Formats: sequence, structure tokens, C-alpha cells
Amino acid sequence: MAIKRILIANRGEIALRIHRAAHEMGIETVAVHSTADADAMHVRLADHAVCIGPPAAKDSYLNVAAIISAAEITHADAIHPGYGFLSENAKFAEIVEAHDIIWIGPKPEHIRTMGDKVEAKRTAGALGLPLVPGSDGAVSEIEEAKRIAADVGYPVIIKAASGGGGRGMKVCNGPEDLETLMQQAGTEAKAAFGDATVYIEKYLGNPRHIEFQIFGDGNGNAIHLGERDCSLQRRHQKVLEEAPSPVISAAERDRMGGIVASAMADMGYRGAGTIEFLWENGEFYFIEMNTRLQVEHPVTEAITGVDLVREQIRIADGKALSVKQEEIEFKGHAIECRINAEDPFTFAPSPGLVKGYHAAGGMHVRVDSGLYAGYKIPPYYDSMIAKLIVYGRTREGCIMRLKRALQEMVIEGPKTSIPLHQRLLNQPDFLSGDYTIKWLEEWLAKDA
Ligand code: ADP
Repeated sequence: MAIKRILIANRGEIALRIHRAAHEMGIETVAVHSTADADAMHVRLADHAVCIGPPAAKDSYLNVAAIISAAEITHADAIHPGYGFLSENAKFAEIVEAHDIIWIGPKPEHIRTMGDKVEAKRTAGALGLPLVPGSDGAVSEIEEAKRIAADVGYPVIIKAASGGGGRGMKVCNGPEDLETLMQQAGTEAKAAFGDATVYIEKYLGNPRHIEFQIFGDGNGNAIHLGERDCSLQRRHQKVLEEAPSPVISAAERDRMGGIVASAMADMGYRGAGTIEFLWENGEFYFIEMNTRLQVEHPVTEAITGVDLVREQIRIADGKALSVKQEEIEFKGHAIECRINAEDPFTFAPSPGLVKGYHAAGGMHVRVDSGLYAGYKIPPYYDSMIAKLIVYGRTREGCIMRLKRALQEMVIEGPKTSIPLHQRLLNQPDFLSGDYTIKWLEEWLAKDA
């Protein structure tokens, strides 16, 4: 069956991103929105729009019954969840499929497996991916925990099996603190995720965050589209991403990419996915897999020329991958700046009226955003209001173009993180590509 109309179960820039791919394929779109988003760009551009509830996400963008009803009354034949919200909810994927609506996403069982971090690690290990040394599954007994920690060596990190967003993690420097920290991690995990299960792994001192984009057709074929370096983070939130990573050679990309692609092929994985690794001293260590499209996917699109959303829609529609591994060429360099409506020094959210707006343009400059002059940024959702993605033939050229593009961006009204990016792009460590996941916070602490 060919997809003719896609309901986009999301908002903001990602809803627009999906709308654009759909329209380029001759597919109609249905926007769903909360009452707070009635004037949003994704609603204005979609072919059909349905209001699914009040502002709070739990009553609208997470409201499964309302979203399924909207799909039924508009005769949508597929649902794309974007990222966040219901995108990694296996139950939702099952409900969509049970209603004979095409789920533009991975098989529900794979979403479930990778959503449980203990299960994900076990599966990744069985598929031959390198793991952070640590416990073989969940740990509940203190004696066992002490044995494992002594084995891998302190410091260790205690992590929640159901964790996410960097929450429920405790770093432990020695055996004397282990029992208390395990209890605290369990209690916090229970409160945040309803599941007290924890596991232990070696705490890597100063790694980079490097992730591989993969794609599977669900029938045992899979490709990789190279890596992204997402080490520049604040409170485990990515701030700026680049592809390729300044520290990964072409040979290493081929080697590691081959490993992840064949793991995904063995799994029978369907759709887009990201395998996240910590990287230290030349070694990769699997930390988790995201079974969805990522915010930072455009940097991969820029250096490969592959439209990842189009690919997602094709796969969901039962078609083959449009490119073979040997056809994928990695060309040039791309950087994405996440632009948030927030104070660039205190990081306090800054929603409200956008009085004036001008998007940067020119060669190799892409702005993914739902902003327009007169738009009111609602206070209820994520503070990311735009993504600026710039391509260059070299990393240096890309950075020069990015500086030029940041200068052109005008967002009047709310405070934004544009000045933060401008300061960051002048740092010698950034310019030389010499940074780890700790770098940004350390720089902010001394520069502020
Ligand atoms: P979440 O799903 O909560 O984001 P992750 O497992 O992806 O959890 O880890 C989030 C971040 O926590 C990583 O990007 C890294 O900064 C840090 N982290 C996780 N595991 C380790 C580890 N073993 N050693 C050092 N840092 C870690």
C-alpha cells in the first residue's frame, strides 16, 4: 500500500521537517496541535489540522487516544512520531499498528528492547558491539556491586535501567560510598521512572560522545551513514553537533560503521536509529541506542546527501533503502547549532513574542525552524526554536560560514543562545577540535 497521507504526531521544527519530506514525495500531511499551538507554522502549512487538546503535553502531544482519533477522522494512513513525545513508546507503536495505520518507525519490540538500558546493553553485547565494562545486567546486592566495582576499577557509575535524559546516574569513587549511592540511585530511579533497577559500569574520565547513524530495511539489510560528534553538551543536553567527528579517520569510520551496520542487519532492525558510544583513547564503548530520528540528523544529511526522513517514509511503505553502503560518500563537513529561546548566560527560558525574524541564507546554509515574525513561543514545551545547519568543504570553511550565518540570524524579542554559539566558535579548543563531553561545562564555569 502506498502512503498518501501522514499524520505528524509532533510540533515545532521537527513537524515541519517531516511535512517537507512528505510534500516532496507527493504525500499529504495532517498536523495535530494543542490549543497553545493553533498558530504554529506546522499547523499552517499542513494540508489538514486537528486540535488534540490543551497545552500540557500529557493532554495533547502525549494523548494517544486523541492522536489515533485524529488519524481516523482525517483518514491518515501513516503516523510519523518525530523525536521526543511518543517516538520511543513501544506501546504507542503497537496501538498505531493495531489500528491498521502504518507506523513510520522501528518494530515495536526493538523500541522496547532498546528502551530498557540493561536489555539494550545485553543485546548490543550479543550483537558484537563494544561495551563499557561493568555488571552483566541489573545489580541489587551490595556484595555483588562491590565485587563488580573492584573488578572494573573505581570510579564507577550507577545507572538506572529505565533512565533517560541523563537522570538517575551516580558516580562513585570508592567502595565506602557504594552502598549509599546505590540506594540513592535506586530511590531516584523509582521516583523518576517507576523502576528502581540499577546497573553499574566503569566511569570513563574524559570521553567524547560519538554516535553512528544507521538505517535498516527490517529484512536483514542495514547501512550506516557515518558518525556525529555530539560531545559539546550542557547537563547532558547537546548544544552543537558536527559530522564528521574531528577525531575519527575514514578507516575508523568504515571499520566501526561496518560493525554497527552488520549488528543492525543481524537484528532485522527497521528504519532510522542511532547507536551512541563514548569514545576514549581510540576505543568505542556502547552506551545506548535511540530508536528514532535525532535532532542532529541534518549534519548527516549534509555530508551524505541522503534525506533521512524520506528514507524513513520509504522503509515504512515497504520499499527498499534507496542507497547501498558503497554508494554513500562522506563529503565535506557540517555543523548544527541548536538555537534555544533562553538566556545565553543563565540559561533561563525566554519564551514569548517574536517581534522580528530573519533567517540566515546563502550557499550551504539550512535553517530548520517554525519561527516567523509575530509568532508567540509558548512556554509549555522544549526551548529549542531553531536549528542552524551549515556545510563546508572543510571544517575550517564550515566554521567561517557558520560564523557568517549566525551574524545574519535575527530573532527579536526572546533571548536566544545565538551569542553562546558565537563565543563558542571563537574558542581555540573548539577550533582545533580538541574537546570532550566535559569541555563545555568547564568552559562555561570559568568563562561566565
Ligand atoms: P541517558 O539515556 O540518561 O541520556 P546515557 O547512557 O546516554 O543516559 O548517558 C548520558 C551521558 O552520561 C553520556 O553522554 C555521558 O556524558 C554520561 N555517561 C554515561 N555513562 C557514562 C560512563 N560509563 N562514563 C562516563 N560518563 C558516562
